Amino acid sequence: MARVRFEQVSKFFDKSVTAVDAFDLEIKDKEFVVLVGPSGCGKSTTLRMIAGLELPTTGKIYIGDKLVNDVLPKDRDIAMVFQNYALYPHMTVYENIAYGLRLRKFPKRIIDEKVREAARSLDITELLDRKPKALSGGQRQRVAIGRAIVREPQVFLMDEPLSNLDAKLRNQMRAEILTLRERINTTFVYVTHDQTEAMTLGDRIVIMKDGVIQQVGTPQQVFVHPANRFVAGFIGTPQMNFFRGTLHCEEGVFSVQVENFRVVLSEEKQKRLREQGALPGEVIVGVRPEHLQIGDSGISARIGVREMMGSSIHVHLTAQDRDVVAVVSGMDDAGHLLREFPAGAQTSLSFSGGAVHLFDTETEQNLEWKAVAAAETEEIIHAEIPDVKADLSSKKQKTGKLFAFLQKNPK
Ligand code: ADP
Ligand code: MG
Repeated sequence: MARVRFEQVSKFFDKSVTAVDAFDLEIKDKEFVVLVGPSGCGKSTTLRMIAGLELPTTGKIYIGDKLVNDVLPKDRDIAMVFQNYALYPHMTVYENIAYGLRLRKFPKRIIDEKVREAARSLDITELLDRKPKALSGGQRQRVAIGRAIVREPQVFLMDEPLSNLDAKLRNQMRAEILTLRERINTTFVYVTHDQTEAMTLGDRIVIMKDGVIQQVGTPQQVFVHPANRFVAGFIGTPQMNFFRGTLHCEEGVFSVQVENFRVVLSEEKQKRLREQGALPGEVIVGVRPEHLQIGDSGISARIGVREMMGSSIHVHLTAQDRDVVAVVSGMDDAGHLLREFPAGAQTSLSFSGGAVHLFDTETEQNLEWKAVAAAETEEIIHAEIPDVKADLSSKKQKTGKLFAFLQKNPK
């Protein structure tokens, strides 16, 4: 069993910095969960608390059914791969991978088996005798992963493991991590600031901001039903456009208006807004770039630059004094441009009543999904929690010294 469970976990640094705030999450056994959010939102701190490299200020962390707040990193049966995977420069790849096992006094024959098996699955067998300086960035990263998999951990932690690689290699390694995940069937917690990485790797993703979980869901859920404006803007690229608008309700029928453009919402959206008891008034109207039409009627806009992406064109415009992006299909089968988008020209934008996302102007919550979003993020399991306080204080002194040592000498 290798579930990981957070119960109301908070971490404060120096009393003034709240790195993680009331974090509640249950990661299922063998699930691949990605923590994603902008730099400084508390992802690494959360991961380091699973590893035991940071202690929660308040709250409880369980691995399997065991409360681990007080368990030393080395006893947690986890392995961690960092962005700056420091390999030992004077050791060969083989020795680097074997190192952790030697420390744990595994028999030579077992070490050899495990190292070779890891090398095979990562396709680095030919590199076993080389030193790190004779490897490319991607190869080094694979060695770092190899060093972690030979441990056969219950939980595999990865903190931005691909951030130092160039774009092409990053894509390749992303695919390799998916393959790796199929081979070593264990629980993964993966941290990244890159929403594409999160969307492609995660069974579920946890979107964080300022130490607080914004939404937990499958990639599709968070894309289609973003809980709030922050998630809506963070997930998806190019990012969602936002307009100032008004929600109308006439004879029980909801419509939305931005400037002179007005559209009746889809049946589905009508139903959800009714269920949520949405009230007419000012709203933030979100529309993804793929769902904006550039045409003769609608919200007035001025064309700016256009980016040719090959199969599509990203047209930048200004509307309501903001930057707006529309993604339009670029060419016909023969490769002729379908349309010109002359910079500076006046045009209009419109969208369908099924494509809009509506957010409260003050709370920025999604007006259709308030209840769902809250339920999703409140996956707390109310299990019996043993009283560990007494046990904790007696061990604290001892562990304090060890933590200090481990922080100075991360594995
Ligand atoms: P992320 O990994 O999402 O970029 P971190 O978890 O590293 O974010 O950091 C979250 C917040 O906690 C940031 O404001 C960061 O400056 C702060 N922080 C992290 N580690 C420490 C520390 N050892 N001492 C003080 N503040 C810290
Ligand atoms: Mg980080």
